[in-house]
Amino acid sequence: MPTKAMFLMIRQLLRRPFTNPFPVKYAPKSVTSLIEKVKAGQVSIKDPVPVPEGFRGKIHYDPERCIGCRLCITVCPANAMEWIPELRKIRHYVARCMFCALCVDVCPGKKLPGEDTPVKALSMSKEFLLADYDKYSENLVIEPPQAKVGTDTQESSDQK
Ligand code: SF4
Ligand code: SF4
Repeated sequence: MPTKAMFLMIRQLLRRPFTNPFPVKYAPKSVTSLIEKVKAGQVSIKDPVPVPEGFRGKIHYDPERCIGCRLCITVCPANAMEWIPELRKIRHYVARCMFCALCVDVCPGKKLPGEDTPVKALSMSKEFLLADYDKYSENLVIEPPQAKVGTDTQESSDQK
């Protein structure tokens, strides 16, 4: 006589998997050749699963809203924020970030002309595809446009 456990097991076997084979259905032998095939239109990328509300992805920084209070640097447990004295703004190293959002919580932000309430300079975006060959690449160092990404950034960071 079939037991409840057997019934559950059969039902589970017949269900579709919950995992989303992303970015493609199979594990490619070479990621480089996969990228080439995607560029050539021979392979299509599957969409990722939508992230839930409140997801903590890559930090977004709006230098125009930054008052240079340095609170984000003070609270960051991962030392992922750096002060840029000449600009009185901050630089953020995504590769060090642990996405705790403490910096976002403390950021007072700034009111721009015509606004009633201040808007934070920091926010957590939904971006989660952060793989890169270089932890100091433009994609992984967030700073005001006037700041210089490159050797200076890397050297000052390595000295920390
Ligand atoms: S999210 Fe957390 S770890 Fe990342 S920069 Fe902000 S305080 Fe630091
Ligand atoms: S990003 Fe926010 S918390 Fe950090 S220095 Fe600017 S205003 Fe202050």
